[in-house]
Amino acid sequence: MDHVGLLLSISELNEMLHETSSLPTFLDRCIAIVAHHFGAEVCSIYLYDPIQKRLNLTSTVGLNHENVSSVSLGLGEGLTGLVLQELRPIMTAESSKHPSYRYFPNLQEEKFDAYLGVPILRGIERIGVLVVQRNSTRPFADADLKALRGVANQVAAMIDYTRLLINSGNDSRVLPKEKDPCPSFIKGRFASGGWAYGPIVIDAETKNLTALAGSVKIHPQTKSDFLAAIARTIDQLTTYQKQIEERLSDVASLIFASHILLLKDEQFVGKVQNLIEAGSQPVSALAAVSGQYIDIFTKQPNPYFRQKADDIRDVTIRVLNNLIGQTGRSRSVQNSIIVASDLVPSDILVLSAENAAGVILIGGGVTSHVAILARSLKMPMVIADVPALLELPHAAKALIDAETGNIFINPDASVREPYEKRRKLRQQQTEIAGISRDPKTADGTDIVILANVNLISDAADAKLVHAKGIGLYRTEFPFIVRNAFPVEEEQFLVYRKLIECMPESPVTFRTLDIGGDKALSYYGDFVEHNPFLGMRSIRFCLENKDVFKAQLRAILRAGAGADLRIMFPMISSVDELEQAKGVVDECKAELVAEHIPFHDSPKIGIMIELPAAIEMCEELAARCDFFSVGTNDLVQYILAVDRTNEKVAKFYCSHHPSVLRAIKRAMDAARKAGIGISICGDMAHEARYMEFLIGIGIRTMSIDPLYFSTVSKAVSAVTVDKAGVKAAAMLACSTIEGVEKLL
Ligand code: PEP
Ligand code: MG
Repeated sequence: MDHVGLLLSISELNEMLHETSSLPTFLDRCIAIVAHHFGAEVCSIYLYDPIQKRLNLTSTVGLNHENVSSVSLGLGEGLTGLVLQELRPIMTAESSKHPSYRYFPNLQEEKFDAYLGVPILRGIERIGVLVVQRNSTRPFADADLKALRGVANQVAAMIDYTRLLINSGNDSRVLPKEKDPCPSFIKGRFASGGWAYGPIVIDAETKNLTALAGSVKIHPQTKSDFLAAIARTIDQLTTYQKQIEERLSDVASLIFASHILLLKDEQFVGKVQNLIEAGSQPVSALAAVSGQYIDIFTKQPNPYFRQKADDIRDVTIRVLNNLIGQTGRSRSVQNSIIVASDLVPSDILVLSAENAAGVILIGGGVTSHVAILARSLKMPMVIADVPALLELPHAAKALIDAETGNIFINPDASVREPYEKRRKLRQQQTEIAGISRDPKTADGTDIVILANVNLISDAADAKLVHAKGIGLYRTEFPFIVRNAFPVEEEQFLVYRKLIECMPESPVTFRTLDIGGDKALSYYGDFVEHNPFLGMRSIRFCLENKDVFKAQLRAILRAGAGADLRIMFPMISSVDELEQAKGVVDECKAELVAEHIPFHDSPKIGIMIELPAAIEMCEELAARCDFFSVGTNDLVQYILAVDRTNEKVAKFYCSHHPSVLRAIKRAMDAARKAGIGISICGDMAHEARYMEFLIGIGIRTMSIDPLYFSTVSKAVSAVTVDKAGVKAAAMLACSTIEGVEKLL
């Protein structure tokens, strides 16, 4: 059976769903294709209702249709309920003999005893179960199971994508989601570069002239009110123009100039005055004349004239606001993120003049003038079609990454930190020129400095500082910032980008290291009393194999042809390492079977960051290709000091003799086994530890691009022999104080 063909057919179906958004039709077509490919008499999809905690038969071929809507299972009920409860496939040639078999009268499935069911999961979120059934003379095989899992993955992504709720009792079976509160992560569209973080200021003013003029209920006004509004507008524009000119020798400020010219244009102003004299209210007279001008310009074939229509709309709004006494925002926009439903070009100029930090525009196209202007003014701007953003409370803060289109609402420190580091790095641009391309100690020993990368865009910084590769890519970042587990394909695209930034150099992917202080908002509604000792990192991955496999497959695929390294965090035993390696092998075998290109021999390494790993370091070294010492966690776990707790910060001591000796043991084990070792925790960027680290034999550091300048300088001050003597003396110390005297 051509399982590749099956997957292709399903992905074609996915395309169809994109177009029609009709989930029932999609599911019906999907099971028809699957049933045909497997030669199965029965194929069914059950969808999980997380509120009722029921698994409802939603779509089927082969079963008695009249009874479909009445089939509903609890978790663990029947074979299908068991598949979803235990999140594992079940394959049996004689389902009726299985202890969990449940008989439904009238469904007529008893004739088809060969059963294969796989969970449909989005990450670890339960979506449903996909089942095929055949006559018991034709049982299913392993290859069928793999293919059905592939289909389930694709179906899951699509169901999630359309974000539809299924109500199996309802004929339409598809309900739109209720009005959502604003999510904490929003994927918007790139409009202008850069990033910004700050409190939000909402600007929900309409810029529709007719609506604006029509909505105004004011006292009767006179011609002199109109002329005063014109004069006030000219004053404001002149002030803005001056502010902009001081900072920009850009054509941008010409926009204000053209607006001022229009307001001084006797014909334009004269026409409005004539209408007022004929009995019109100034507001409607202005709207009417502007409307005529806009009409004329919009119809011009020349884009230059069409752009004039925008100018007229823009300046008219400004005059209207002055006329009705709506003198702009009550809150300062300085250092803030403006969330606006509509913006005219001069708004961007004003925001820039008033030092707003960035803009989120609800709706609108990326090629609009507003976006182009934002780019030339270096104002970070993201476009997002999420009206809930306009409902955010004033206390909310937003971080916008205008390069990727990502918007984070009230981001916590783990999201903000990488951006803050970049800000510091940019401020250090001048120092970058002084960073050595080949760092060496004073006596000429090469030291390899690799980069730690948190955001893909950090890779550009890594290149800037001449990093020899990526020693630690913290893959959890794309997981932390989302509202759901990213699927394999999404991860593949992110990882591929990273590899493409450094195609010739080693790139080390640390597998998902969530938990501890890096919680996923969408995983687990339980609170851990000791998250650093909880279900984190490699433990989480080995418990949630589907999540782990999706990531490993994405890494293996992205790494095809590259110098790929895969690193497991928080390894505490040989058993865990072997299990994790086993999952890599499973993924490789799957990719071979699916004829998907991938890297078949990546270097496999581990983070040394637990006391248990230090104890076992010789055995671990014999089973992997490299070590990377994560001193941040190593110190925390050796000394039992929470690395995030300010109250105990003074006990967090990287040069505690036990920590120094632990690092030395890892070094010796790596040397003995002939594998590579690097330091990727913060100790690697602290100049005062350079002598110790080089002295015990470390030759590779992995640090944030921010610290390359400091570290390459510190390295060049070290002499290897002297460092060896110093390190030996430090290792012999029994007290922290003793070490400190030597530092
Ligand atoms: C470490 O623990 O030292 C490390 C590099 O990893 P993280 O800081 O991401 O836990
Ligand atoms: Mg760590």
